[in-house]
Amino acid sequence: MTVGRDQILDGRRVADAIREEVAREVEALRTRGVVARLDVVLVGDDPASRIYVRSKAKTSAELGMVSETHELPETTSQAEIESLVDQLNDDNEVDGILVQLPLPGGIDATAILDRVVPAKDVDGFHPYNVGLLVQGRPTLHPCTPAGIMEMFRRENIALAGKRAVVVGRSNIVGKPMAALLLHAHATVTICHSRTRDLASVTREAEILIAAAGRLSLIGEDHVSPGAVVVDVGMHRVTDRATVEHLFPGNEKKIAAFANKGAVLAGDVDFTRVAPKTSKITPVPGGVGPLTIAMLMANTVKAATMRRGKDL
Ligand code: NAP
Repeated sequence: MTVGRDQILDGRRVADAIREEVAREVEALRTRGVVARLDVVLVGDDPASRIYVRSKAKTSAELGMVSETHELPETTSQAEIESLVDQLNDDNEVDGILVQLPLPGGIDATAILDRVVPAKDVDGFHPYNVGLLVQGRPTLHPCTPAGIMEMFRRENIALAGKRAVVVGRSNIVGKPMAALLLHAHATVTICHSRTRDLASVTREAEILIAAAGRLSLIGEDHVSPGAVVVDVGMHRVTDRATVEHLFPGNEKKIAAFANKGAVLAGDVDFTRVAPKTSKITPVPGGVGPLTIAMLMANTVKAATMRRGKDL
């Protein structure tokens, strides 16, 4: 079975549309004397975090925003990080504060995240914002689930009355995703590592969100024909046999592996699952680009909400 072009939910295309709108909003703010600004706190030298932070700064600049990255050494103390967060909280020029995770061992990440004032919490992780989200009140939503909801809206994927299953219950993806689907009137089930017979639950999904962080957890038997499948997982596959198993006969993937020594894959076994679906996100090019686009959208939203009537 093959996968038709119209089955693919193209996250890059949706993210481009969001970015264009954000750029226009940034410009509109500028005409009112406001320069939207995102500050990123990076502690230590985790290579993946450095790449993410660089790409956030680059995207902010492309959209006309100011982005400041605060790089602190691995040895920075809890008190020093908290003091930087306090300073950014008090700085009226700063609209969004993002503390890049993971923080070095020994740092209490929850205490740091809780210290960011809710109005500048562009990750939507602060308990106050989580409370508003659960109550369905306007606030800053975590970027990955917010991006997925934005994609559903723009791609005209109806959710009301649908049976949605979310695999994963993290604070960053699974739980907020489930809350947003619920507000959109889906009937929501959340699965996790203790769920018995996962496949029997996921087969009931008309909308399936895979966010377990397990390579190829969702196989052909986990999906019913016609389901919409969103793959949040992101894995660097560095083993040739695994690449050949995941992408049999896919010369492009095999060539990419030969070239770079790794390819990206998701929580869904795309090759075997995609032909059964009505729509599916690829990895890469699905959820990843949406996440960063929504971070930009959240920064503009924070800049606007914080100023309220003064704007
Ligand atoms: P996480 O904090 O590790 O949470 C994973 C969740 O999946 C947990 O709730 C866990 O259950 C559940 N789980 C693990 N194994 C399972 C299994 N065999 N069956 C059912 N559930 C299982 O991960 P996360 O931060 O939510 O991220 C999930 C994935 O998304 C990762 O691959 C991450 O890299 C990716 N991600 C991508 C983006 C993006 O922009 N594309 C953004 C964020 C995350 P328990 O609670 O019982 O442990």
